[in-house]
Amino acid sequence: MLRHLIKNAYVVDPSTGLEGKRDILIEGEKIKRIGEEVFEPEAQIIDADGLIAAPGFVDLHVHFRDPGQTYKEDILSGSKSAVAGGFTTVVCMPNTSPPIDSPEVAQYVIAKANCWGLCNVYPAGTITRGRKGEQLSDFFLLKEAGCVAFTDDGSPVMDAGIMRRALQLSAQLGVPILNHCEDDSLAEGVVNEGEVSALLGISSRPPEAEDVLNARDCILAHYTGGHVHIQHLTTALGTEIVRIFKGKGTPVTCEVNPNHLVFTEEETFRTGSMARVNPPLRKEEDLKALRSALADGTIDCIATDHAPHGDFEKGRIEKAMPGMIGLQTALPIMLRLVEEGVIDMKRMVQLMSTNPARIIGIDGGTLREGSVADIVLFDPKREWIFGEETNFSKSKNTPLWGKKLKGKVIYTIKGGKIVYKDN
Ligand SMILES: [Zn+2]
Repeated sequence: MLRHLIKNAYVVDPSTGLEGKRDILIEGEKIKRIGEEVFEPEAQIIDADGLIAAPGFVDLHVHFRDPGQTYKEDILSGSKSAVAGGFTTVVCMPNTSPPIDSPEVAQYVIAKANCWGLCNVYPAGTITRGRKGEQLSDFFLLKEAGCVAFTDDGSPVMDAGIMRRALQLSAQLGVPILNHCEDDSLAEGVVNEGEVSALLGISSRPPEAEDVLNARDCILAHYTGGHVHIQHLTTALGTEIVRIFKGKGTPVTCEVNPNHLVFTEEETFRTGSMARVNPPLRKEEDLKALRSALADGTIDCIATDHAPHGDFEKGRIEKAMPGMIGLQTALPIMLRLVEEGVIDMKRMVQLMSTNPARIIGIDGGTLREGSVADIVLFDPKREWIFGEETNFSKSKNTPLWGKKLKGKVIYTIKGGKIVYKDN
């Protein structure tokens, strides 16, 4: 049986509370032992001196564009980006072509991911057929086919009656409903509504477009008992809405995209269409509120909303497709927040691994002995440039393209196998 022995890693595992220098013995797919001095003559040694070991990261929000738009990304290039970013598990959004609204498409995604075996790829099924917002998908069949969540991401579910029914079913099935909260009738433009949209004379998406659906979904979750997960939260008021409902014991969780923790709408002046994302980059006060909510536990997890687009789709901002790639830049952004004292390392790992694993109820998010050996080893100080040489995505749409970043994944291990190694 294949054995790896990780020597002298600084282990950070919020699931057990463990923080300190340890050796980790992996046997087959599992973590066999964690201890201060572990010996195993048969094992291949991984020298992890100076590296932090954490449970592999889990991303509840990626777009791998497969099937249908594989010029932007596919399951292989997406998986490579994921493991290079330290992610061992991702949840694929169903806004593919065709969408993941049938067991066949869900099974295609799973089979293709398994055939490469780099990263655990779970599909999310659509809430409504064809993501049209009219008729519920067959949640039972989709769950059976391997879907771990339901969402019409890219679009909101505008009909409150459909959302209520979806949450009732979610309560029965124990599968979360993820909603992209932006009211279509309010969010028609391309950047946040405010000085930047006024100065550039471009159409906008006001924060209330997001807040009204966030509040509606919290209310519906409150009454139905269904689990709603608010995707890519961006507003100050939004953090308060979630906090209020969590205080009532409502089954609500939420995620934030790392980019919204470091960029404001003013990034539009610097990188133009690269700064275009839905919901849009907001104001300094929103960024500060998101950071507080990250620290106080209101925000449950980080999700990259990795959204690749071709160069030709990122021209003039008014016409540009929304979204940024984010799998390889998430860790450096989060480490910057650790360095700035916004959160500590343990909280960072909780946000990137333990909590998202719990939200979709999968194995992972822990380094407990006997659990699956999904592990990331990273150097928090290593500097590198995110560019042609280091990028694994087929796309390069991010304001961080060509920038120097701090914090690099050195090894990613999935199910006991080394699936990424920095060289
Ligand atoms: Zn979205």
